[in-house]
Amino acid sequence: MSATSVSPQALAINGGSPVRATFLPYGRQSIEECDIEAVVAVLRSDWLTTGPKVAEFEEAFAARVGAAEAVSFTSGTAALHGAAFAAGLKPGDEAVTTPMTFAATANCVLYQGATPVFADVCWDTLNLDPGQLAGRISSRTRAILPVDFGGHPADLVAILEMARARGLIVIEDACHALGAEYRGRKVGSTADMTVFSFHPVKHITTGEGGMVTTNDVRTAETLRRFRSQGISTDARQRQSTGQWFYEMVLLGYNYRLPDIACVLGLEQLKRLDGNLARRREIAAEYTAAFRELPGVVVPAVRPEVNPAWHLYAIRLDFEKLAADRSQIFRALRAENIGVNVHYIPVHWHPYYRERFGYRGGEFPVAEGAYERLISLPMFHAMTGQDIKDVIAAVTKVLSTYSR
Ligand SMILES: *Cc1c(COP(=O)(O)O)cnc(C)c1O
Repeated sequence: MSATSVSPQALAINGGSPVRATFLPYGRQSIEECDIEAVVAVLRSDWLTTGPKVAEFEEAFAARVGAAEAVSFTSGTAALHGAAFAAGLKPGDEAVTTPMTFAATANCVLYQGATPVFADVCWDTLNLDPGQLAGRISSRTRAILPVDFGGHPADLVAILEMARARGLIVIEDACHALGAEYRGRKVGSTADMTVFSFHPVKHITTGEGGMVTTNDVRTAETLRRFRSQGISTDARQRQSTGQWFYEMVLLGYNYRLPDIACVLGLEQLKRLDGNLARRREIAAEYTAAFRELPGVVVPAVRPEVNPAWHLYAIRLDFEKLAADRSQIFRALRAENIGVNVHYIPVHWHPYYRERFGYRGGEFPVAEGAYERLISLPMFHAMTGQDIKDVIAAVTKVLSTYSR
């Protein structure tokens, strides 16, 4: 085929011109001048690590999500580890979680020597299905770890009811859901512990960073000790009281988020509402454009939630498409649209297969959804043109492959 015979609507993967000239990532941070100035001011100050900005960030964060306490960590994964420790997970225990998540949600159970047990998800939200949960709870279960997939809150009322009846602890992995609301309550205020991440693709960033929120003061104290070597006071407290004495009371780690990162978090938190509003606008534009597009199922939103839209994950309807997911994925990438897939079900990873003997087929809803999922670009700094490009590319690719 000669170059001149390629029509402008031809897919880039077939030699046509891409919808846009530059690659649009699926997620990215936004850093403004005020962020940079705040970090530089900390670099010039006396405290690079555990100084005044840690408590300031934690207090502002707790207030924003409506929790009594917030404890910062060096990553969302470290925060999950802290929560698994504070829940008392130990060898012989089990914790029930969803396979439709990033591996860290289940890995934190393994860090404590306990066993993650999966339960399948609801078809509409891809969140832990309370109907599947009961059958996965045993006499060894100590905790339940729901994930707010894509930023759509999990069904906490049903999950908490089941947990309360059996004396289980609920750790909500809300790494996708900062700013989301569920039945009029903010995510972060309801579960026994709620975990957030400040990785650059999330709603606010500290480079790497994480947080656990809780309404229980003693849980917060355990989390603070766990993140700092299990020691009962921090260096700044000792300096201010003029004392040298400290005791190690539990086996902790160094998971302390430094002042340099916390001040960035403080600045970013001021823009959270704006970021959320933008993500909700983008989601509304996508849904309006794709609701009627053959071959696409748009993400469900239950009436009792206001999602935070970390992801906008469409599902392909193969009855209406003459291509598989990998072909459509590659075609969208060729149009310079940075699509992604969230998630390979955790039990399908080689580590989980080899250690626990999963063969596939155990969680049909999660597995079936996985084969169809494609995450579209979704971040608060997207421009109007970026959104138009995504809509144009998805429409172009899916109409070409529609049957
Ligand atoms: C991002 C994320 C994490 C881990 O956070 P890090 O800060 O990258 O360690 C855990 N769970 C889910 C669902 C996430 O999306």
